[in-house]
Amino acid sequence: MLITNHVLSGALVGAASPGPASALGAGVASHFALDSVPHWGEGVIEDFMHVAVTDGLVGLAAIAVVAARTPRRHRLRVLAGITGACLPDLDKPGRVFFGRSPFPAAVDAFHVRIQRESSRRMPQEVLVALTQAAVLAVLARRSR
Ligand SMILES: [Zn+2]
Repeated sequence: MLITNHVLSGALVGAASPGPASALGAGVASHFALDSVPHWGEGVIEDFMHVAVTDGLVGLAAIAVVAARTPRRHRLRVLAGITGACLPDLDKPGRVFFGRSPFPAAVDAFHVRIQRESSRRMPQEVLVALTQAAVLAVLARRSR
């Protein structure tokens, strides 16, 4: 799943969580839940680096927009949700930049085993991102 979608789902999870610790844990759980539903993917990261770089930059921009639009009283738990939701995918930059994942082999094996990827599901990824962004925009407007 695109990291942008993990960013946006982490923001939603954080907004719904009572505090930053629960938001972090729920964010991690949301990552594995989203990775287990059918989504876009093309195997090993070297095969889709052009998409990964673009997605990473869009994800960073999404974090900046979410942080700017989230009222201060909710910001920590929303950012904790985003952190938890993105944390499990540190295996990808870990492999690219350092040649190894930061996680135990059992965690990486579980992460790979739950993937249900298809290279034909990019439209679904975009639709999920736009839907999550719309929900976050409504929530931000209501909480001001
Ligand atoms: Zn993942």
